[in-house]
Amino acid sequence: MGFGISSQEGLIVKCRVCGGLLEHRVTDLPFKIGDSSIVVVKALPVLECRQCGETEMEDETMRRVDQVLAGVEPSSELEVIRFAA
Ligand SMILES: [Zn+2]
Repeated sequence: MGFGISSQEGLIVKCRVCGGLLEHRVTDLPFKIGDSSIVVVKALPVLECRQCGETEMEDETMRRVDQVLAGVEPSSELEVIRFAA
């Protein structure tokens, strides 16, 4: 679908909760940093289970999220960041 995740094309990824099929989606997810900071990452590419709604991130996405979160000002309570692929 043009999200640049071709490295996993052809590989069927299954939900670790229910074993259902995962499909690529773009969504907004909140991440908690430290004791009091919440970062909302928008337009994040994830894999979502069709059956139970569990979301998973691919390793590459996870690494980028880590980088994004590392750059957040720790003193801010709520930060909204658009994920740039
Ligand atoms: Zn599931």
